[in-house]
Parts: sequence; C-alpha cells; structure tokens
Amino acid sequence: MRIAFKNLTSIYHQNTPFEHLALNDISTTFEEGVYYGIIGHTGSGKSTMIQTMNGLLLPNRGEVRVGDILLKRKSKQKEIHQVKEHVGMVFQFPEHQLFEETVLKDVMFGPKNMGMDEAVAQEKAEYYLNLLNIDATLFQSSPFDLSGGQMRKVAIAGILAMEPKVLILDEPTAGLDPKSHIETMALFKRIHEEMGITVILVTHDMDDVFEYTDYVKVLSSGHLVREGRTLDLLTDEALLGRFALEPPDIVRLIHDLEDKGVVFDSIPRNVEQF
Ligand code: ADP
Repeated sequence: MRIAFKNLTSIYHQNTPFEHLALNDISTTFEEGVYYGIIGHTGSGKSTMIQTMNGLLLPNRGEVRVGDILLKRKSKQKEIHQVKEHVGMVFQFPEHQLFEETVLKDVMFGPKNMGMDEAVAQEKAEYYLNLLNIDATLFQSSPFDLSGGQMRKVAIAGILAMEPKVLILDEPTAGLDPKSHIETMALFKRIHEEMGITVILVTHDMDDVFEYTDYVKVLSSGHLVREGRTLDLLTDEALLGRFALEPPDIVRLIHDLEDKGVVFDSIPRNVEQF
C-alpha cells in the first residue's frame, strides 16, 4: 500500500497563542513494499509525520493518501478507521499499552476490533505470538507478569495480528538490551521480506538505518530536507556531519556493508583521509 503526502502542513494548537508549525508543506511518497527510515533531530517532526499516516492526526492543510483512502482536514471517522486497519503503528514502549487480563486476549483485541470473529482472531493471535517466540504456556498469563522484553513482544504481536499493510516503528528498540534489539529488528526485517509489507522506521540509531532501511527521509524543523537511497547518505558529508557520525564510524559502516556484499562505486572523500 502506497502512502502519498501532498502539500501537507501540520500545526498544533492552530489559532491559539500556542500555535506551532510542526510540518511545513510536505510532498513525498512511501512506495509499497519498501523499507524506509525517517531521521531527524528531536522536534524535527518525525512523530507528527507518522501520526498523520494512520489518522491519529489530520492535516491542517494538504492531504495524505493511504492507498485509496484520502485523509484531509475534515476527514470522517470512517476513513480514519479504515486507515488504522491498514497502517499498524508500534509506538515507543508499546508494552505500556497492554491492558487485557491475558496475553492471548490482548493480542486478539486488535483483530476483533477490526471485525474478525473470535476463532479467526485467536488463530492470528496464536500465530503471531509463536512467531515472536512467546511460549504457549504464557498465553493465559497476565501480560503484566511477563518480563519487559516479553511484554514488548506481546504488544508487537498484537499489532502484527491485525496484518497491517504498512508497519510504522517509532524507536521500537528503545530500552532493549543488545540481544533483544537485534532479535526485534531481525523480526521486522523478516516480516518485511516475507510479507512484502512496507516498513517505516523512525530512529536515532544510525546503525539500524544503514543496516535495515533502503531509503531515508530526513526532517529538519518541519521540512523534508533530503530523501533518497540510504547508501547515498554515506557520500553526503554534510548530512553525516549533522548526525555527528565520526569518520571512524563511517569506515566501520562501510566495512560492515562491504562484508555483506555491498559494492561502492566510490568511497566518500572524508573516508579516504583516514
Ligand atoms: P520529533 O518526533 O521529530 O521529535 P515531533 O513531531 O514530536 O518531532 O514534534 C515536532 C514539533 O511539534 C516540535 O517542535 C514539538 O515541540 C511540537 N509538538 C509536538 N507535539 C506537540 C503537541 N501535542 N502540542 C504542541 N506542540 C507539539
């Protein structure tokens, strides 16, 4: 499913003394089946951008088209509801949103809310809990009795069980230990590859950006200042400088990527000096 922004402007508290322009005239697309990164400093508009993609925020001006569904300033609940079914969002610390009595009920909540009947919802919930290595003996436990890492997996299973066509990940590994970090990112990669699902990753972790994303969009003070292939970022000195990547980091990234078979036509100039 394709997402297209057209001249989208997002303003918080419009027409009040607290008015704040968060996104300014954004036109861009997220193509079906691609793994994107959205990067930018805190306050650059990343969260606002992803919230406009699943109807949590409506544009003040312009529009966003999610597949055939058009979201505008005055869109109705019907369209917003449809968009939420297609665009799954893994918020930061998603485990904070667990609330049901049992793990299984929690994961079934989304699918049932979409209108799936009980048996189908249960089937999906069990499938995705298995995929996330949550043992069946835990299905009837309270989600609040699980470890932090397991709680996060249950929350993610609940989003995957709705089988979204686009999956948005907002700093999905914040607070995880290195092993869980790798496991979680590997899982999203597998889902992206096996299901052909579009993934949009918001992160400050440049290693993850280079490791997993195909394309990146860079936000700065509410403007889309750069977009393109992730690998091309390696040759963009100004941009790397902005994210405070030191040349040794760049050398390491290039070596890692070369080990994975990436061939560089030219090595960035600032790397050659080291
Ligand atoms: P990021 O996710 O890149 O940190 P945000 O999209 O959260 O950026 O924020 C963009 C801008 O909008 C920031 O200047 C932020 O302070 C402002 N902002 C975000 N949410 C609100 C809100 N609910 N009310 C007012 N201003 C907000």
